[in-house]
Amino acid sequence: MRYIEPHAHMVSRTTDDYERMALAGCAAVCEPAFWAGFDRSSVDGFHDYFAQLTEHEPKRAAKFGLKHFCWLCINSKEAEDVKLAEEVIALIPQFLDRPNVLGIGEIGLNKNSRNELRVLEMQVELAAKYKQLILVHTPHLEDKLKGTRLILDVLKNDKRISPARVIIDHVEEHTVEMVLDCGMWAGMTLYPETKCTPARAIDILETYGSEKIWLNSACDWGVSDPLAVPKTALEMKKRGHLAGAIDQVIFANPKKFLRQSPHFKW
Ligand SMILES: [Zn+2]
Repeated sequence: MRYIEPHAHMVSRTTDDYERMALAGCAAVCEPAFWAGFDRSSVDGFHDYFAQLTEHEPKRAAKFGLKHFCWLCINSKEAEDVKLAEEVIALIPQFLDRPNVLGIGEIGLNKNSRNELRVLEMQVELAAKYKQLILVHTPHLEDKLKGTRLILDVLKNDKRISPARVIIDHVEEHTVEMVLDCGMWAGMTLYPETKCTPARAIDILETYGSEKIWLNSACDWGVSDPLAVPKTALEMKKRGHLAGAIDQVIFANPKKFLRQSPHFKW
């Protein structure tokens, strides 16, 4: 088995996780910028985080033969402070040329607040100005449907943004169709407790097809499983999916989307 882990927060994982992922057939791991489990106290915290994602984490991954890529942004959980967000966004362009940077993400909404929406618009502007791919985090549980609609409206209203260069992550049964209908890609996050279980994710693939869908573990500092993608691939095999179809979802699809960034050389 070979696969790409397109969404994992490796800064909060151990080297053992890197080794287990490599043994399971992981070829590359992509790390969106996100919340650290606590709010950073200043823009300097983000500067150091972006340095960690672009300088240090690729070296850790390389020790296990894994390529490491990342996305940069201020996440929606820390976007209530618009002034801080402006300072962080001003930092980002100096990092965009670094060789493992894929685009702007994971931007999006958390509680669907007015300030989060303002910061989302600022970061869509950043992506448009610098012609970057976009990776979007959608809210949890009861906020997901409304938040996904708000996010899609922002993206559709900016004619500089090509839908094929946007992935909307953490889709579930009630949001996947509206994302695909917009011409955007959809990511399914496999979590042991919330988001999608492997069985639900495979049901969605069987219902909506797998042309523009990828799977990810989104493993971070919380309860999550860095091997969720290969475990779901095994589940697909048990349900009778052919090897080529499984390879498409866990390897070819993320590769196809990510190769739209000139930095995803492979
Ligand atoms: Zn994430």
